[in-house]
Amino acid sequence: MRAVVEVNLEAIKTNIRMLGSKTEASLLAVVKADAYGHGLVPVATTALEAGASWLGVALLEEAITLREAGIKAPLIAWLVPSGEDFEAAIRADIDLSISSISALEEILGVAKQVGRKPRLHIEVDTGMHRGGLLGQWEEFLSFAQEHRDEFSLIGFWSHFARADEPGESYNDLQLQEFTRKLDQLTSQGLTPEIIHFANSAATLTLPQAHHSMVRLGIAMYGLSPDRSALGSSDQLGLLPAMSVKAKLHLVKQVHKGDAIGYGGAAIASRDTTLGVVVMGYADGLPRIATNEAGALYDGNKAPLIGRVSMDQCVIDLGPESSAEAGDYVTLIGSEGYTADDWAKASGTINYEIVTRIATRVPRIYL
Ligand SMILES: *Cc1c(COP(=O)(O)O)cnc(C)c1O
Repeated sequence: MRAVVEVNLEAIKTNIRMLGSKTEASLLAVVKADAYGHGLVPVATTALEAGASWLGVALLEEAITLREAGIKAPLIAWLVPSGEDFEAAIRADIDLSISSISALEEILGVAKQVGRKPRLHIEVDTGMHRGGLLGQWEEFLSFAQEHRDEFSLIGFWSHFARADEPGESYNDLQLQEFTRKLDQLTSQGLTPEIIHFANSAATLTLPQAHHSMVRLGIAMYGLSPDRSALGSSDQLGLLPAMSVKAKLHLVKQVHKGDAIGYGGAAIASRDTTLGVVVMGYADGLPRIATNEAGALYDGNKAPLIGRVSMDQCVIDLGPESSAEAGDYVTLIGSEGYTADDWAKASGTINYEIVTRIATRVPRIYL
């Protein structure tokens, strides 16, 4: 294989058990976006083995793929717009999140035809101002109460905007708003079975937000929700599960002053050995990455030199390198260059680095 994503499923298990030890709440494993690039079905299966009892995805097709793989655990899809195949969702026992009266109406209409009660989670906007019910709240409450017998009220939930900033008072405001809306809901006789609010960062830093279930995303994959605010994977006791390796297609000597790659964007500062790596931006490496990212070869860091191309990139192996064409280098790993290093070198977050690794790069499971 010219390039490969190695996923350490044992690391995911260890992370889930560690995170589970920090809370009394049940664990929902967030496996959207192909399990943050790690592979939907293998990660979901592993998470359930390690003690997660729920799964969460964004899209309906992700949820259906899990059901088709024979996974029976409770499963919620929280980003299912109007016009999607709600019938398939209801038949496959997929919980749906609702954020508006019209969504509830549409789902209840489909459910009537199917002859089954949908399993629903009410999402409230407590300050993120993205998903969730906001302005329509009072009308929603009366509408939901009128149709009380037509659905199973499984969950009540919200999402933090700033959970990765510990001590930030905005989190307290969101918590207060959450409790206020929950009280209003229950005082109407609408009592959800499960209350969930916390993502990874809130699981690590806001125990008062755990409620009955936490939704574990990035931390489950061994990455920090924010390295500067919360500490690195190491400091949090998390094991990064993903390593990305690719072959050297070519190894060559260049001289000091030689311009490397498109636009001559880098100039060799010494006589050195270049490694041409068979992985580029079509594989998900950010084109914008600077030489603060690169690859590990034989225990030594070899920084990127010049621009990342579509299918390849060039690293500076140093003048004394013994690298040969066909050798593997590790672009992303727990040593050498981490997903956090790639994020920093590209002006983004580790979430984006792992999620964008293209599906043309095969995943193998350890
Ligand atoms: C992605 C997502 C999560 C997980 O967030 P992390 O920061 O990765 O833990 C939790 N809840 C919802 C609604 C999400 O979309």
